[in-house]
Amino acid sequence: MKQSVKLIAGNWKMNGLAADLSAVVHDLKLALQAEPASCRVAICPPATLISRLADAVRDHPIEVGGQDCRAESHGAYTGGVSAAMLKDAGAGLVIVGHSERRQEFGETDLLVSAKAEAAVRAGLAPIVCVGETLQQREAGRAVEVVRGQIMNSLPQAVTGQDFAVAYEPVWAIGTGLTPTLEQIEEVHRAVRAAMLERLGLASAAAPILYGGSVKPENARDILAVPEVGGALVGGASLKAADFLPIIRAA
Ligand code: PEP
Repeated sequence: MKQSVKLIAGNWKMNGLAADLSAVVHDLKLALQAEPASCRVAICPPATLISRLADAVRDHPIEVGGQDCRAESHGAYTGGVSAAMLKDAGAGLVIVGHSERRQEFGETDLLVSAKAEAAVRAGLAPIVCVGETLQQREAGRAVEVVRGQIMNSLPQAVTGQDFAVAYEPVWAIGTGLTPTLEQIEEVHRAVRAAMLERLGLASAAAPILYGGSVKPENARDILAVPEVGGALVGGASLKAADFLPIIRAA
């Protein structure tokens, strides 16, 4: 299947202060002005840095994303951030259903779907994360689990919209472990088939990102796997010296 331009998105998780952001954005902008990226590039910093990032990249194609949003638009949810608030702060994307949210906060497919729908309603492109645990993979259930997550976490509202799916095996996140290229291809093909079944051809161009210990050393091989439409990068997005070679590999 023909792939549209790849998306390389950095997930900073709960890392980074203003000075860290300034340093990374300064270095990325310099490098990408000298040689433009041939992919979409996004940074998803902590919510506290979103408007600062949006200001810093106003004249630059680096995209700005949130790491989570609430499904509700407003209300008595102390500490909550809505999709409209992220949009208002300058974000264009938002990650939903990251395995850390699914595990730490007990987020279900149903809630992830509601968050993705809220993102679309607010004009944000959701990056919907799916992925199996080590136990599920060892039980031979990786494809089945991921297929179920796609069927239940992707709302019809994303049909024809700007959105992405990220396949992130839970056991590969932050561990330095990665699936084989064959395993990545197998799951990405299954994700594409499930997306087509769920949403039809209108979403055939939506990229399927791979995430989990992507680094400069493995990015080129992973990004060349059929149906890999980009990468969601955690640890290696915190420094321009690591993130840039991954962008260049796309
Ligand atoms: C992530 O948190 O989405 C991720 C992929 O992390 P890392 O690249 O550090 O494994």
